[in-house]
Amino acid sequence: MIDAHLGRLCKLLRFAGIDCKSAQHLSEGAIISPCKRENRLFISRNKRLSAQIRTLPHLVLNETNITLQLKEIRHCLLFNIEDIYTRCTVCNSKLLPALIPSIRPQNMPKDPLNLKICPHCNHFYWEGTHYQKMRITLTDTLLS
Ligand SMILES: [Zn+2]
Repeated sequence: MIDAHLGRLCKLLRFAGIDCKSAQHLSEGAIISPCKRENRLFISRNKRLSAQIRTLPHLVLNETNITLQLKEIRHCLLFNIEDIYTRCTVCNSKLLPALIPSIRPQNMPKDPLNLKICPHCNHFYWEGTHYQKMRITLTDTLLS
């Protein structure tokens, strides 16, 4: 589970295939219960909140730069390069292979490479320049 203020890091972890839930819709008091129930690590930059939830496994990040944040947590991640591009960065669901839709989204290229879809939110993904940048960030940071 990740603090709502770490949305970019949450998306990057999901892109890495790591099961990452956002606490975006939870009040601070409501974070403990799902973390305990689902045996999740809570990641935040909020030191005050961290003191409140000290009974939970949690990490307090010091860095504001996303690459440095990734370095701060890499010892806690079960990162497997084969898992990159297997989760929806929007909702955390597992992606499925997809065919090019008859009504293609406006930004979809003519021949999208390795097209996938989220069965939950119907968001399409393909291996474009954004994919390449995120993959490089992950491999440079987590495998070096
Ligand atoms: Zn989704």
